[in-house]
Amino acid sequence: MNDSEIRHREKMRRKKAVIDGRIAKSTETRGVLILLKGNGKGKSSSAFGTMARALGHGQRAGLIQFIKGRKETGEYLFFRDHPNVDFYIMGHGFTWETQDKSQDKRAAQQAWAIAGRMLRDPGYDLLVFDEMSYMFKYGYLDVSPVVTALRSRPAGQNVIITGRTMHRELMEIADTISDIADLEHAFRKGVKAQPGIEW
Ligand code: ATP
Ligand code: MG
Repeated sequence: MNDSEIRHREKMRRKKAVIDGRIAKSTETRGVLILLKGNGKGKSSSAFGTMARALGHGQRAGLIQFIKGRKETGEYLFFRDHPNVDFYIMGHGFTWETQDKSQDKRAAQQAWAIAGRMLRDPGYDLLVFDEMSYMFKYGYLDVSPVVTALRSRPAGQNVIITGRTMHRELMEIADTISDIADLEHAFRKGVKAQPGIEW
């Protein structure tokens, strides 16, 4: 082994000791609240990726999309018939095009009623509330009953909430928060949204 190889080996040994130490300290087994925020692309697709991961282990998942796009998404077409997935798209569908605030608010509250029920059901291992954060931003939902329901959910239940902005109160009770930065996006290079990538 030359000097550089010896140094590399020593560096890796120290790194492993640090990581092993952290692993030894993480002894709790419980569900986590994950928030995926930020302006970059990859929040919803990460949530769906995690759902695929959970389903691979035979877990049960509930998913609510709080914002309905104009098109049927690939994730909807793929997951809707999965026996272990309950997939809900918010009624009427809050879209960027609707101008009827009271209708949107009613739809958000109906979606929250389903979400609240899921948060009381230990049969769900993973819940995904996609784009839920906008409901707080636009005042369609109050954050405090959501925080209360998240706090008292079944101990093993994992929850993922996505959306560009996140309410401070959700961030305070979250276990994992990822902020996805927008460093570049094909849209600004003039590339059209495409199936399989955007929806
Ligand atoms: P994805 O569903 O692809 O993981 P996302 O959930 O992180 O994206 P959203 O804010 O929900 O992002 O926006 C959804 C759509 O907007 C996607 O089609 C995505 O490609 C597009 N998009 C995301 N980020 C940007 C951006 N910075 N500029 C333009 N379009 C974006
Ligand atoms: Mg999204």
